[in-house]
Amino acid sequence: MAANREGKTSAWRSAFEDIARDAPDVEGALIVLTASASEISDYNSHGKETPNPFMAFTSAFPNRIVPRRMLRDRWFAPEENDDHTARFVPLGLRKVEAILHREFPEADVKVVHPESLHHWVGPRTRVLGINTMNPLGLAYVDTTYSSIIGFGGESINSAEFKNTVTHPSVRKHRPKVIVGGGGAWQIERADAFEELGVDTITTGECEDIICPLFKKAIAGEELPRVVKGGRPDLADIPHIEHRSTYGLVEIMRGCGRMCKFCSPTLRKKISFPVDYVVEEVRRNVAEGSKMAFTVTEDMFLYDSHDGFIPNRESIVKLYRSISEVPGVEFIQISHASLVPAIHDERMIEELTDILLPKTLWKPQYHPNYKEPFISVEVGIETGSTRIMREIMPNKAKPYSIDDWPELVVQAVGIMNDHSWYPLATLMTGMPGETDDDTMKTLELLDDLKGAKMFFTPILFIPLEDCLLSKSRSVPLDHLTEAQWEFVSTCWKYNVDFWYSDKLWPKAELMLGSILAYFIYYRWKHGPRVARHAFKVAGFPDDFWPRAFLRGKIVGGCDPELCAPGATTAEAAEGDERGRNGRNGRNGREGHEGQSGRVGDAT
Ligand code: SF4
Repeated sequence: MAANREGKTSAWRSAFEDIARDAPDVEGALIVLTASASEISDYNSHGKETPNPFMAFTSAFPNRIVPRRMLRDRWFAPEENDDHTARFVPLGLRKVEAILHREFPEADVKVVHPESLHHWVGPRTRVLGINTMNPLGLAYVDTTYSSIIGFGGESINSAEFKNTVTHPSVRKHRPKVIVGGGGAWQIERADAFEELGVDTITTGECEDIICPLFKKAIAGEELPRVVKGGRPDLADIPHIEHRSTYGLVEIMRGCGRMCKFCSPTLRKKISFPVDYVVEEVRRNVAEGSKMAFTVTEDMFLYDSHDGFIPNRESIVKLYRSISEVPGVEFIQISHASLVPAIHDERMIEELTDILLPKTLWKPQYHPNYKEPFISVEVGIETGSTRIMREIMPNKAKPYSIDDWPELVVQAVGIMNDHSWYPLATLMTGMPGETDDDTMKTLELLDDLKGAKMFFTPILFIPLEDCLLSKSRSVPLDHLTEAQWEFVSTCWKYNVDFWYSDKLWPKAELMLGSILAYFIYYRWKHGPRVARHAFKVAGFPDDFWPRAFLRGKIVGGCDPELCAPGATTAEAAEGDERGRNGRNGRNGREGHEGQSGRVGDAT
């Protein structure tokens, strides 16, 4: 048992306090499994027919921006069965449930929404198992966008995790709290065991550790703080027994490209047989899911040949089989690498025939969508081949990493030709990154201008269990001008492509950016963000007179740094050549100093 549930979370008032106050006493189940409301939600089931996996992104925003009551009404109210067990929960929690059922009867294991914990946590409860991807908001997106917004407290994900561990029934009956899932490492990194009342975390794959660990907890034995999972075989991984959020099903584990910031790559590669996947899809559909969402690090590695060569026959067979399951109205894919689109365009063509008729993303879904499209998450990360060689040397295989920027442009072009709109992450602040590397990314962005895609610029965060886990991240306030340019260019392209092209929404955005800048962002991040904020809103670079923004960089270049008519990129190139000269004039810390900080991270 954690020694201190009265630590910092004692000041935290659980959102479930009032709901649980008058609840009747219950005996409780021996083991109760849950996840935060923000991780269980399918972000649309209330009032709409279909879930929206990408709205989960909003839980990375600060929690005080939108009142929780509104979030609850819109997304976080429990969806449950008559006995107050949850109708759907994250896939990882369903796997834990199935593993526990090997040794415990159904009556002893209950899977519950956190708002309903008082129905199942009682004096008989010995273990509360929580699955989480992001308990403290330390993941890439939370960290990046909470810092950019800069107010409103911790992220919604973090607040919801606290609401869960401080639920009145958990505080009253004090079961052992075991936290697992892709984000459990955050509790160890923040040394937050005591503060959150967490006894143990599990990291990695948990198939072989769950039952022994839970038995120890039930027996009241002392638990280790951290338990690391092994490398299970396919036979060790049971089918889910009930519905997962979004109809998630695993199609493969592992990757093997060995990017240094990535932990899934360290897992053993397993491609789940078609029959295995189809059975899980059937189970989801049987309990009301209309969607099959296939989880993988890279769908093109499914049953792949040596050398990262995609296996077209296997992939097409898998998706055709999923699409033929009665009741599957939508298929959503998760992650993919880019270069297989170049290596086997016919594979993209054949997959499009299966996936496009089953896509959620149609003009009927949102008025801004001009045509149906397939959405897939890809990692571009950087345009710098130097960084790619250093941190992600295998990302372009079977091609050469030296051609990375050209391969990215070509692959996105092929995907767009087949109505695939990639959602791409790009990182800044990677260990050893200089402004020259950022400029290479800006050049790549320039080459991608007009592509049908969504850019997600993020700050590098060292995750646990990866080769760069000991590196340091770069705080937002230490970003260089070129890095701000990178962030604002990504969002400018997003607004241009995805935002309504009608006059009034555009005018609203422009007006909003002016108010936000003068009321808040000028104070928070300084005048240097002015041009970037206004650029995203659609103002031309030379719209604002320099004097209006008090002598900071506006209108493309700071006239002190570049010749009249030079572009921002040229300015930054000049900046790279003459770092020392610029530092004093801008009145900020030296560029060398900033780069040094990034470099120190290695
Ligand atoms: S390609 Fe993606 S999943 Fe594979 S190692 Fe790199 S970041 Fe990880």
